[in-house]
Amino acid sequence: MSEDLRPLVRDDVAIREGYHSPQLDVDVRLSTNESPLPPPIEFTAAVQAAVGAIDWNRYPDRYARELRAAIGARYDRPGEQVYVANGSNEVFQTLLLTFGGPERRAAIFEPTYAMHGHIATMTGTAVVEGQRGPDFELDLAEVERVVSEEDPHVLFLCSPNNPTGRSDPPETVGQVLDMVSGRRILVVVDEAYGQFAATSAAGLIADEVPLVVTRTFSKTWSMAAARLGYLLGPRWIVDELFEMSLPYHVDAVKQAAGVAALEFGDAMNARISSIVEERGRMFAALGDLGVEVWPSDSSYILFRPAGDARAVWQGLVDRSVLVRDCSSWPRLEGCLRVTIGSPVENDRFLEALAAAL
Ligand code: PMP
Repeated sequence: MSEDLRPLVRDDVAIREGYHSPQLDVDVRLSTNESPLPPPIEFTAAVQAAVGAIDWNRYPDRYARELRAAIGARYDRPGEQVYVANGSNEVFQTLLLTFGGPERRAAIFEPTYAMHGHIATMTGTAVVEGQRGPDFELDLAEVERVVSEEDPHVLFLCSPNNPTGRSDPPETVGQVLDMVSGRRILVVVDEAYGQFAATSAAGLIADEVPLVVTRTFSKTWSMAAARLGYLLGPRWIVDELFEMSLPYHVDAVKQAAGVAALEFGDAMNARISSIVEERGRMFAALGDLGVEVWPSDSSYILFRPAGDARAVWQGLVDRSVLVRDCSSWPRLEGCLRVTIGSPVENDRFLEALAAAL
């Protein structure tokens, strides 16, 4: 159809570039913070058995009660304090549809995970930006400024922050909650990489606190393929989110896969420990290579090679290693982000980087 005859696409959404990481065909993919390891083989067998028992002609449990109860049990919380959706990105979307929308604002602190602002825009929510401090730590004075000057309805924190890597201790989140007290602002702490950090804001959740903590099966549970994310929060928020969700939005296969995965907590914890160990080795090795590198509480590391970062990124691709090029993102000039892979993948990356430099 010729362009001047096509139905008009919303132009308020087109102003933000899409967030799409190139999926190149390389040997070593360290660009999207997936787990380097598949789930345990017993998990696959358990999912196969569960899939065989699905009533395919029936809609799944609309409220995913078994899955939510199993997730809640890991945090000593009832399933009623857990909301699930197709990846934590969809959790953000439902949050913004419920608490954001036209005439409302979402606050983000840059540089941070691009999808918070992007999904806000998609839902018609205006984005108001604050800046992180010089080393990308959360700057509480700046949070205070954004809260009082911009009067947001939803305030995003990201801990550990993507792509910079550091987490906010619960005391910091507590200070943000004090700041928003009485202002009817929902604080969302994105802990997609929370299991790689030493602390979590989940302990702050209470009925009278306007706080939710989001997590995902994509990273620590080695299940990026399944698209399953969740939040922990007060029951009244969870109930509102289900009101906003499409009917049966989480399918039966995914519900079964999530329940099956939670049986393998020990195997997943072992994977997390090995990634944390490798993170220490990678951090030291990057320092030895003379690149600027930021400490990480997460499953990736931000670093800045001297010279042309795009050329270094291409040099890595030429050696069949893919990392994330953040060099054109505001305040991240010259930066790349590498996901912690398996020991073999990390060696491949370090060798390729040494050569590309
Ligand atoms: N939050 C952060 C900080 C992320 O990096 C990601 C994945 N890139 C997500 C949320 C979304 O994860 P998913 O939708 O796979 O749960």
